[in-house]
Amino acid sequence: MHEVSLVESVLDLIQDSARVNGFVRVKKVVLQIGQLANVEPDAMSFCFDSVTRGSIAEGACLELLDSPGVAWCMTCQCSVGIASRTSGCPACGGHTLQVTGGSEMRVKSLEVEY
Ligand SMILES: [Zn+2]
Repeated sequence: MHEVSLVESVLDLIQDSARVNGFVRVKKVVLQIGQLANVEPDAMSFCFDSVTRGSIAEGACLELLDSPGVAWCMTCQCSVGIASRTSGCPACGGHTLQVTGGSEMRVKSLEVEY
């Protein structure tokens, strides 16, 4: 389950940010997850609870936001929305697609206590 390592990297980020900004508790974490990132939201929430146990983010509420998959179709010469890496271009049905967005995961915001 690669969600564990994802959550661990998120927690690293949070702890770095806590050192820099001096907060002591995290109440809420908002993560933006691309539709093409192969992340299972349920697995993510489950891992979040176990990985953050004993850390400053213990008990924090996790909110997951979807960011849509976007690709450049070389046939249509335009940017199109795609639901998965294996789906074709919704306009021409072709597979000359280059993923340009939606494969990343990032911390969008944190709600913290000082
Ligand atoms: Zn196309």
